[in-house]
Amino acid sequence: MSRRVGVLALQGAFEAHQHVLRGLGAESTQVRTPSDLELVDALVMPGGESTTMSHLLQTCGLFDAIDSRLQQGMPVFGTCAGMILLAKGVLDGRSDQRSFSAIDIDVRRNAYGRQIDSFETDIAVDGLAEDFHAVFIRAPQISRIGSEVEVLARHKESAVLARQGSVMVASFHPELTNDARIHSMFIGLLQEV
Ligand code: GLN
Repeated sequence: MSRRVGVLALQGAFEAHQHVLRGLGAESTQVRTPSDLELVDALVMPGGESTTMSHLLQTCGLFDAIDSRLQQGMPVFGTCAGMILLAKGVLDGRSDQRSFSAIDIDVRRNAYGRQIDSFETDIAVDGLAEDFHAVFIRAPQISRIGSEVEVLARHKESAVLARQGSVMVASFHPELTNDARIHSMFIGLLQEV
């Protein structure tokens, strides 16, 4: 059965995600309102600026709508700022920044430091035969991982790709490389739930 994958389209790198999802044959729509959300079976939260996204989510009424879908088990994939939005704890965030607590991790915003604000590196990913070229842009670092969370990839000790049930997060941007394998893992997860 084909599943509709929404991409949160308030701000940030949402179009690149749609491009990858469509390349995989998934039906992908932009989510900007609670009624857009009703039409999708799963959601991708893109990179961008988590403080801005948190603010926009609240002003457009999507925060509570997404929160209740997440509690019902809607599969979700958060990349970079999207990962921050899904985390339980956010370090170095703004005091009014909210997150969904959908995965038992804490993240530190912009933790990779100024000089290396952005960098690219090849990482080994569980279940993929060959390394994945990962692009990190002012990336958050996972600073705590709960026991229920499965780590799927690391970069220098830190987890950079993780999953808890139907929630998947990446601290990098898998939509920016011409490689759909991580999105394909997410689509695979939709078939499981
Ligand atoms: N630093 C951004 C934030 O805190 C995340 C960066 C990104 O998504 N590329 O939201």
